[in-house]
Amino acid sequence: MNIAASPNDMSEIIEADRSHVWHHLFQHKSLETTDPKIMVEGKGMRLWDATGKEHLDAVSGGVWTVNVGYGRVSIADAIRDQLIKLNYFANSAGSIPGALFSERLISKMPGMSRVYFTNSGTEANEKAFKIVRQIAHKRYGGKKHKILYRERDYHGSSITTISAGGQPERNAQYGPYTPGFVSVPHCCEYRAQWDVEEYGERAADAIEEVILREGPDTVGALCLEPVTAGGGVITPPKGYWDRVQEICRKYDILLHIDEVVCGVGRTGKWFGYQHYGIKPDFVTMAKGVASGYAAIACMVTTEQVFDLFKDDTSDPLNHFRDISTFGGCTAGPAAALENMKIIEDESLLDNTTAMGERLMANLHGLMDKHSVIGDVRGIGLFCGAELVKDRDTKEPAEEKLMQAIVADCMKQGVIIGVTNRALPGLNNTICLSPALIATSDDIDQITDAIDGALTRVFG
Ligand code: PMP
Repeated sequence: MNIAASPNDMSEIIEADRSHVWHHLFQHKSLETTDPKIMVEGKGMRLWDATGKEHLDAVSGGVWTVNVGYGRVSIADAIRDQLIKLNYFANSAGSIPGALFSERLISKMPGMSRVYFTNSGTEANEKAFKIVRQIAHKRYGGKKHKILYRERDYHGSSITTISAGGQPERNAQYGPYTPGFVSVPHCCEYRAQWDVEEYGERAADAIEEVILREGPDTVGALCLEPVTAGGGVITPPKGYWDRVQEICRKYDILLHIDEVVCGVGRTGKWFGYQHYGIKPDFVTMAKGVASGYAAIACMVTTEQVFDLFKDDTSDPLNHFRDISTFGGCTAGPAAALENMKIIEDESLLDNTTAMGERLMANLHGLMDKHSVIGDVRGIGLFCGAELVKDRDTKEPAEEKLMQAIVADCMKQGVIIGVTNRALPGLNNTICLSPALIATSDDIDQITDAIDGALTRVFG
C-alpha cells in the first residue's frame, strides 16, 4: 500500500497532531513518550498507519462503525455525485437521497414509518427523549415524563445522554445531570444479581419493580440497547425481551431501542431488536448507517407517534419544534443508501451470521485453553470475551493486563478493543466487531492473535 505522504511529511503531520489535536477517549500524557497513531489508508478489513504498518481491523474503525469495510469507491461516488448536484438544504424541505434512503430503510423495519435525520447517535437519542417529553406535556400534563435506562447501557456523550447512561465510570465528574432519568438493573446473567432459573424474566421483572416504585403514571419511556455494547457486550438472557415488551404494554410505556451499535447488519439481521420479536416505538441508529463514510444518524418512529404531532394544526406549539442543521446534509443519506445496497448485493447479513458463528466457536475454543476467559458472549459479528482472575470468584482481570493484550495484538497487526476503559476492574471484556465482509481467514487471524496475546500476557 502506498502511503500518500512522504516520511518527511509524516513527521510534520505527527508533530501537528501531537501539538494541536485533542483525541477522543485518550490520555494525552502518553504522547510525551510515544508518537500519536495516525491512520492513513484503508481497504476492506485492513488499515495502514503513518509508519506504513498494516493492521487487520477487528473493531470496524475502533468503535464498530465501518460495517461494509474501507475503500468503498461506490459510496465515495454516490457522495460525490450528490454533492455536485446539491450538498445541502435544511431538512424542513426534502431531498432525493433523503426520501429514497428513508423508503429503503423503512422497508427493513416493519411497523416503523418515519425517519428523522441527525448527525450522531447522541443526538438521535436526544430527539427520542424530547419527543417522549413532548408527548408527556401534550397528553399527560407533563407527568409521564420519566425515562428509564439500564445499568451498563450507553446512549451518548451529551449531559442528557450521560444522564441516561448506565456506566458510572463514564459519567463521574460531569454532574449535575439532567433530571427525570431513572436506572433499571442490568441483565448480564454471567454477573447474575438473582439466583433463579428463569433469569431473563427475573431481570425484566426488575424493570417492573422500578416502574411501580416510581409510579407508572410518571414513566414515559424505557430506553435499552438490544445487546449492551460498550458496557460489556451483554446479550440478553432468554425470556428477557418478551417480558420487557409485556411490561411496556401493561403500563403504556414507549419502548426506545438504541441500535447505534447493533443496527444495520452488525448482528446478522438489519437490526438487533429483530432477533427478539420486539415492536419498538423508537429506534435510533448511527454508526453503521453509512459505515462512517458520512456523518448520519437517524431517529425512526411509528406513524402512531408521528400522528400525535399533527393532530391540531391550529396550535403553533403542537409540532416537534426541533432541528438538526446537518441533518439536512445530503451526503449522509446518499452514502447510507449505497451502504444498504452493498449489504444486500453482497449478502452481508448472511456472511455476518456465518462468520459470527465461526468467531464464537473460535472464542469458545480459546476459553477451553485459557482459564482467564470467564465468559464468551455475542451475536453476529459482535462478540466479547470477559476476562477474570479466577473463574470461581469472577474477579475481573486487571486493567493493565487488558491493555497489555490490546498492545500485544497491535504488535501482531490486529486491532482489538476492550470495553469500559475508565475504571480499574470494569474494563475486562475483549471486544470484537469486524466488518461484515470478514472472511474465515480474517476471523482465524483475529482469534490466533488473541490466543498468542493471552499466552504471553497470562502465561
Ligand atoms: N448509543 C450507543 C449504544 C453507543 O455505543 C454510542 C456510541 N458509542 C452512542 C449511542 C452515541 O453515539 P455517538 O458517539 O454517535 O454520539
